[in-house]
Amino acid sequence: MKYTCWGAAKQVTGSMHLLQLDSGYTILIDCGIDYEDKTNKEINARFPFDVKQIDVLILTHAHIDHSGNIPNLVKQGFKGEIICTEPTAYLLEKLWIDSVNIQNSNNKRNKSARLYGFKEVKASNEQVFTLPFYERFELNKNVAISLHEAGHIIGAASVRLEIDEEGEKKVIGFTGDLGNPGSKLIVNAVSMKNLDALISETTYGNRHHQEKRTPEEVLIEHVTNTCIKQDGRLIIPAFSVGRTQAILFTLKKLFNEGKLPSIRVFADSPLALASNNIHNRYSHYLNSETQDYKRDNDGSLFDFKSLYLVEDANDIEDMELYRDSCIIVSSAGMLEGGRIQHHISDHIQNPLCTILIAGFCSPGTLGAQLLMGQSTIRIKGKDKYVYAKVLQTDVFSAHPDTIGLQQYFEQSNSDKLKTIFFVHGEEMAMYDLKEVLTEDLRNKVIIPNRGEVFYL
Ligand SMILES: [Zn+2]
Repeated sequence: MKYTCWGAAKQVTGSMHLLQLDSGYTILIDCGIDYEDKTNKEINARFPFDVKQIDVLILTHAHIDHSGNIPNLVKQGFKGEIICTEPTAYLLEKLWIDSVNIQNSNNKRNKSARLYGFKEVKASNEQVFTLPFYERFELNKNVAISLHEAGHIIGAASVRLEIDEEGEKKVIGFTGDLGNPGSKLIVNAVSMKNLDALISETTYGNRHHQEKRTPEEVLIEHVTNTCIKQDGRLIIPAFSVGRTQAILFTLKKLFNEGKLPSIRVFADSPLALASNNIHNRYSHYLNSETQDYKRDNDGSLFDFKSLYLVEDANDIEDMELYRDSCIIVSSAGMLEGGRIQHHISDHIQNPLCTILIAGFCSPGTLGAQLLMGQSTIRIKGKDKYVYAKVLQTDVFSAHPDTIGLQQYFEQSNSDKLKTIFFVHGEEMAMYDLKEVLTEDLRNKVIIPNRGEVFYL
């Protein structure tokens, strides 16, 4: 069989992996939007393979850099099933609709620049087929798959494929995005066994999570310094799915336990409400501590008195008229697009404001510019001085660091495992990670270029 990484090769967005069996049966794993390759304007519009030859698409999780280009694949003739877990399926529709709205507002005059519309979202939804974790499912008599908990966001899966080519059996594992062990809400990743090849994310391949304190302690410090000791605003950019819920859940616990006075929290993201609902509905997919908390309290993970979910224009107006100190949790995480841009533009020149960056920011994104300490930024067409305090925490990280990845590889390793492909990370992070592995693991590592073909 042939394996080609069409994304994210030596970068972190645009995941898309093609597996072509000798029989011609073709599997695509993930089909995400690429936010990084600015040299190729057609990178998301055109697929580098014949879309109609794909038999099945397996989706690891709902994040848009893994799922966001699926309606375009359907638009261009993909008719097969889209296999994922149930929470992923429920999140997908909301994320795709949000993606259409963003594309429409970014390309008001230039309709041809839009990748897809509501029609393709509807068609894509009809092709979704859900599988529970750990159920072995035969795609045909030669190919079986099972989904393993990846620990990254609710419903996120690693994919284990058992492939029989003329009597020769091979097992291939795709990690998808892995989670940081000990996450607030999500179960820990479960490694896949008996593999011949592993394709693994390496987002934080050369980082060590620095924060030794708990999420509660970190939020108490930042809320106290910004919103209690001074009359400021704490702005936390966060992806709508996953990190926003981890932050809201932590705040709910702090308010309920009286560890912080009740402060107004605006969750300003079009998907926050839907995502909250999905976490409540599928709470049996979350870790046992979270399930216990939900059962022993008011049956909700995120509702608290001072939480204000911003859903429509009226809510936005209310938020803008609010003058007291407050916490704003808003998407998108890397500060590229989404409602966070509005808050940054309004408050970047306010010295009483703290912007707490709680996740990974790819090079070139606005988040990365702020973290580099730039004294001015360009936002909404204007140059502005940075007077707000910019801080960072990795306590809500949704990816494992160097040590977490090393442990995962050691758990997955065996004499049978011949190759570990590094994907979904910056090139430097991949080489640094390779260096710290044991000799046995290091000798198995391959770092593919985009479009490079490997025979497994
Ligand atoms: Zn992800």
